[in-house]
Amino acid sequence: MPALADFRNVVSILLGEYEDHLKVNRRPRDTMIFRTFVSSVVTQARRGVETTLQNIEKDNNFKGWSPIAFATPEGEKLLKKYVGHKSKINKILEQSKRMADQGLKEWIEDLRNDKISIGQKTKDDFLKEIGLLEYFPIDRYYPPFLARTGFLYKYLDEKKLDPGPFMRGLGDGDCYNAYKGMMIDLCKRELKGLKHNGLDLSDNPGIVDMIIWRHCAAEDSEAFEICGKSPRCSECKIKALCNYGANYST
Ligand code: SF4
Repeated sequence: MPALADFRNVVSILLGEYEDHLKVNRRPRDTMIFRTFVSSVVTQARRGVETTLQNIEKDNNFKGWSPIAFATPEGEKLLKKYVGHKSKINKILEQSKRMADQGLKEWIEDLRNDKISIGQKTKDDFLKEIGLLEYFPIDRYYPPFLARTGFLYKYLDEKKLDPGPFMRGLGDGDCYNAYKGMMIDLCKRELKGLKHNGLDLSDNPGIVDMIIWRHCAAEDSEAFEICGKSPRCSECKIKALCNYGANYST
């Protein structure tokens, strides 16, 4: 089983592998912020979010990515036509109205201070994507990746933590927060001095999420699905540092 110190080697290797594909946007325009919000809401458990957004943009009734444009009956019609999922549509409409009323800057502050609820994963994903890189969204790729590499068990052992919360599924808030806390803690402890574009990864764990996500995810042209549903260990650059890859895969 690799030592937790190997986390740094693993992230360093994966950074080298995916660095050219990272898109760290620290100061996006307001229109991009709203587009990112819609993307973060739509993307949960759904493939092809970028296609959905592009279809909305091509529609003759699209008036731009602004909360004001979407907080209207026309905006609602567009969402119904392309998003389809009622609870997602309601979430976008409700928050569009609130953003239009109070302004994006104040709305983001309220979201950060938990005065607005859009779901923990959606919140972390959105805030990271608009450049607040202290946020670390946990998606379904993390539990298998951390179990296969061995980092999960090593971390539990070292911290003498109850594995229970980690086993409940990410829909459970305690489970989600347990993984999130672990990832932020590992970044802070192990990655000092490791940088991307001058940003230290120990203070910007959101970049580490972008790296690991590219290694594991499947549903995006920027994702490489090496450690996805069926791990492709023979193609994996971190195989020698991975418990499953080094010991059990063919
Ligand atoms: S070696 Fe295999 S199990 Fe380990 S990280 Fe790579 S793909 Fe995943």
